[in-house]
Amino acid sequence: MSLLDVAALDARYGLLQAVRGVTLALGEGEILALVGANGAGKTTLLRSIAGAHRITSGTIAFDGVDVTAMPANRRVAMGIALVPEGRRLFGGMTVEENLKVAGRVRRPGRWNVDAVLDAFPVLRDNYKRRSGDLSGGQQQATAIGRALMTNPRVLLLDEVSLGLSPVAVGMVYESLQTVIASGATIVLVEQDLGRALRIATHVACMLEGNIVLEGRASELTREAVTQAYFGLRRADGGRAS
Ligand code: ATP
Repeated sequence: MSLLDVAALDARYGLLQAVRGVTLALGEGEILALVGANGAGKTTLLRSIAGAHRITSGTIAFDGVDVTAMPANRRVAMGIALVPEGRRLFGGMTVEENLKVAGRVRRPGRWNVDAVLDAFPVLRDNYKRRSGDLSGGQQQATAIGRALMTNPRVLLLDEVSLGLSPVAVGMVYESLQTVIASGATIVLVEQDLGRALRIATHVACMLEGNIVLEGRASELTREAVTQAYFGLRRADGGRAS
């Protein structure tokens, strides 16, 4: 059984249909990269899974439990954690406070303050600083650390590299490798296709609200994903031969 099962999910903003009949399954330990052009529906899909966007139809099951109607805070308690686009930290609070606030809804598990600081050493040096005073990369590390503090069973990461310098992106991804090595299950929205294909076990490409290509990262060529990204998918599904 999959850990996360999304079936026929539709999501709208008024008349605009942002996600169209999306079905996907994610197994424990898998890293799914959700790629696609701006406006393809990636953020809306992630927010729907987290319970931050009310869906129009379809179902979301987590560990065999139908969570479709469950509010976001109960989904966090079940182990679904979203790192939203733009990070949304409590800027007036220190790194320590941001981590500890999230820790209040902790499930049992390996993630605690020490484990987060080990995975993100940059936070150790900035632990007592206000998160609003940190650099973009340090803020992103705080946002991911905050999500980890809940001990998620699936981590939903929305464009963690957005607006960061190449050095900061490298730092964040290096730490994410530690998180992945701990056996995390992740859905990751990433604009950088090369990076997405390197880090992911599975890839799903969205176009205008639909998933137009999906498969194991090792079986998809970068060319095939690029074609799907721009709506130029080949009839054979673009699998590597
Ligand atoms: P991006 O990379 O730009 O974040 P995305 O693939 O994550 O793109 P979404 O942000 O999910 O795409 O947007 C999907 C569609 O929904 C787009 O057409 C977008 O304009 C629209 N949309 C997103 N948020 C809202 C909103 N709050 N109100 C109205 N329409 C929205």
